[in-house]
Amino acid sequence: MTTNDAAPGADARTIERTIRGWNDVLLIWRLCRNSACMRASACRGRAQSCLQTHFPLLPEGVRAWFAGIGEAQEDGLNFDDTIAWLDETPAGEAFADWQRAVRAAQAPLTVRGSRRRAGDGSAGPQR
Ligand SMILES: [Zn+2]
Repeated sequence: MTTNDAAPGADARTIERTIRGWNDVLLIWRLCRNSACMRASACRGRAQSCLQTHFPLLPEGVRAWFAGIGEAQEDGLNFDDTIAWLDETPAGEAFADWQRAVRAAQAPLTVRGSRRRAGDGSAGPQR
C-alpha cells in the first residue's frame, strides 16, 4: 500500500451525499427515530442505512413515485420531464399527499404563522 491515487472514501461519500439528498426529498426523516434527524427535519444520520430502514415504511405511492424516477432515468428522461410526468400519475398524487401530510404534522413547530414574542426585556430576539 504505497500508492495513493484516489481517496478511498470519496465515492462512498458522494453516494452518501446523493442518498441523503433523496432522503430529504422523500422526507424520510419523518419516519426516523434519530433525534438529530427529527430536530433538523432532514436526514442527519447514516443516509444509506436510513434509506434502507425507512423506505419500506413510506406510503406505497411514494415508493412508486421514487421507482418511477429510476425508470424515467433509464428511459433517458431529464429530471424536469420526469417530475412533470410523475405529477400526472397516481404516484405523483401520492407523493404530493405525503408532502402535505408531513408538512401538516410539522406545522406547530414551524416559524411560519407562529407568533413571535420578543421576550420581556433583557435579551433581544435571538436568531
Ligand atoms: Zn435518520
